[in-house]
Order: sequence, then structure tokens, then C-alpha cells
Amino acid sequence: MAKNLLLAGGGHAHMMVLANLGKFKEMGHLVTVIQPSPHHYYSGMGPGMLGLTYRPEEIRFATRRVVEKQGGTFILGKVAKVEPAANRVILESGETIAYDVVSFNIGSNVSGHVAAEKSDTIFPVKPIERLHEAQQLILRLGKTRPLTVGVVGGGPSAVEIAGNVWGLARKADLLPITIRIFARTSIMTSFPDGVRYHAINSLNRRKIEIIEHCAVTRVEPGKIEIDSRQSYGLDVIFIAVGVRPSAVFRNSGMAVGPEGGLLVNRYLQSVEHPNIFGGGDCIYFQDKPLDKVGVYAVRENPVLLHNLQAALEGRPLRSFDPGGDYLLIFNLGDGTGIFRKKWLLFDGRPAFLLKDYIDRRFMNRFQALE
Ligand SMILES: Cc1cc2nc3c(=O)[nH]c(=O)nc-3n(C[C@H](O)[C@H](O)[C@H](O)COP(=O)(O)OP(=O)(O)OC[C@H]3O[C@@H](n4cnc5c(N)ncnc54)[C@H](O)[C@@H]3O)c2cc1C
Repeated sequence: MAKNLLLAGGGHAHMMVLANLGKFKEMGHLVTVIQPSPHHYYSGMGPGMLGLTYRPEEIRFATRRVVEKQGGTFILGKVAKVEPAANRVILESGETIAYDVVSFNIGSNVSGHVAAEKSDTIFPVKPIERLHEAQQLILRLGKTRPLTVGVVGGGPSAVEIAGNVWGLARKADLLPITIRIFARTSIMTSFPDGVRYHAINSLNRRKIEIIEHCAVTRVEPGKIEIDSRQSYGLDVIFIAVGVRPSAVFRNSGMAVGPEGGLLVNRYLQSVEHPNIFGGGDCIYFQDKPLDKVGVYAVRENPVLLHNLQAALEGRPLRSFDPGGDYLLIFNLGDGTGIFRKKWLLFDGRPAFLLKDYIDRRFMNRFQALE
């Protein structure tokens, strides 16, 4: 019997399902995909796009085109709420979409612990597509006057963004640009000393200022406030203070993990509702908390592909094994990177070239479907 498969978000964990939508159709099922943009942006290349290493079209996947080409239905919209008892989701537009089986890959948002106004000069690092707006603004302003750019946060995203703003200014030959990182404690504190050493060294070499031990309490257009007393004037502000899973599940009263991610068992299946699945940053994996990195979302792909077909057909599910340690390479924005896997650590041009190769190969594989 034909069933309705609903995919909420076409993120990194849904890539293989999206590539195989035709198979679901051959099995007689209907597939609908909901996403707020016709494209999905690959976050690993986002800072590189900001720094003019990549064009926006090189780092995005044409979700709408791929879905429609394979006979699926694409809905431009955002899931606001889930009603599991009624097997339906409600979009921000108020539209209601029913499903037999649903899978969520709706990602995460920059966590809201810094009060930031919505503005054309303030850019949370997610959604990634806004980094292009930031780039255009810096290019426009930076050709006419010296600029000061602030990055709130001290983790890898903050380092990559600051480094790539520096790269952008160099490549576009902008007027002098001052870049300041405002870190609550220090730079990349959750990483080993070697990684921190390379990151700080690279920022210092380029005169990117690191202001440590400061709690940013408020961000508003043109300035940030620290510890509710001191303020800094800034032309453009990025907010990179870490991410939290989408609030959709908590707002829907569903079983969630400590940060609000959909609580899933080893089959990437909701612990409460057997016809609800999920992957990527928006889930909380019950067996073991997973870092919010694209690596896990990518590893989840084959399991979601299998389990969504199995759930529609009443076949046994497959369990997800998160695997061992993963490779991380940071793009420092000057053509170099920092490579880290287990005990192996190095920086320089080869690290960036390896990241570039891996990221382009990933994109080429899925862009080929377009
Ligand atoms: C600047 C930056 C750089 C990073 N670099 C790396 C890296 O190099 N390597 C790495 O492993 N990780 C990296 N990460 C982490 C990585 O971004 C995440 O772990 C990864 O994006 C998670 O993938 P996802 O598919 O779950 O979410 P996302 O990539 O956020 O995708 C979610 C998708 O769902 C859509 N969506 C959102 N809300 C809704 C809704 N309500 N309804 C329907 N659709 C919705 C979005 O439009 C998007 O297409 C980086 C993160 C940042 C911020």
C-alpha cells in the first residue's frame, strides 16, 4: 500500500535518502520534502565561501531540483511543530502535512544565550547561507572605509570565521580591517593544547585580536556590550557561540535530550514514536551523546536510508554505530588549516588542501544528482 514519507529538512544526514528517492517511488510510496530554502548549504565549506575560496553555488546542494526530478514533492517552508498522535507536522505558514513515516534532519541554531537583535549587520553562523550576505556587506563597506569586524565566541567556528574575514579582506584588497574575537574564556578550550597553539599562533600572526575572558551580554547593530558595562563599536558582528538543536521537538512536547534534540534510540528512531526518525544536529542519540559535527550526520546516511524503507515496508531496522574518533580539519582562511585525528596533528597548507579535497569530493558526489 502506498505510504507517505515526509523528510523535514534536507540536511547532511538525508543526502543518501534524497539521492535514492526514485527507489521509494518504485516501491510505490510518496515522498515529500520540506525545507526553508530550495538549497541546502554544506557548512564545512561555509567559512571558505565567506573568505572567497568558494562560490555559493559550489557549496550548496539543489534539494528542490533533486527532489522534483525524482518525482517527489518539495514544499518551501519550515516545520514549526509536530503532532505525533495525529501523524502530522504544522509549518510556520500554518499549513498541515500528514505522514506515515517522517524523518527530521533540521539541524541546529546558534544558541540564544547572547541577546542579539535581528539586524542586517549581525550574522549568527547558522544558517550558513547568511555568511554570503555578510561577505557582500564587508565587500561593499570595506572598499570605502576601514572596518572593524567582531566575532563573538571562541570555538572552531569563531576561529574559522575570523580567519576567513581576514582572507576576504586580503583577496578583495579592502581598506584596513580590524578583526576582534571575543571569547568567554579562551580559544578552542575543548581541544588539545596542540590545536589551540596552532590556532592562536595563526590568529596572532595576522594581528587578529583575541579578547579573552569576556562575557558578551548584549549584541546590537554597531556594538557589543561586555559584562553589562564595557562596549565595543563594530561595523559587522558574527555570533559563533555554539549551537543547540532545533526547538521544534521541545515545543511539540516530545521526548528530547538535555538540549532539546529529538531523543532517538540506536535505530535513529524516536524513543516514543516508531514512525519518527531523525539524524544530524537535531537529534540526541540515547546510547551516547554525539558531538555536533557533520561527520556524524554523514555516517548516519546509510542507516536512515535503510530504516526509512524498512519502516515503510514493515521490515527489520538496522542499528547505527557512531564509529570511532573522527577527522577534523579547520580552515584558517589564509590557505592553511589545522589537521587533527587521534594523536596526529599538523598545520599548514597540506592540511587545508586535504580538507578542500574531501569537501569538494563530498559536494561533487551529491551535486552530480542535480
Ligand atoms: C561555521 C561552521 C563550520 C562547520 N564546519 C564543520 C566541518 O568542517 N566539519 C564538520 O564535521 N562539521 C562542521 N560544522 C558542524 C556542522 O555544521 C553540523 O554538525 C552539520 O551542519 C549538521 O548537519 P545537519 O544536516 O544536522 O544540519 P544543517 O546542516 O543545519 O542542515 C539542516 C537543514 O534543515 C533545514 N531546516 C532547518 N530548520 C528547518 C525546519 N524547521 N523545517 C524544515 N527544514 C529545516 C535547513 O535549511 C538545512 O537545510 C560546522 C558548523 C559551523 C557553524
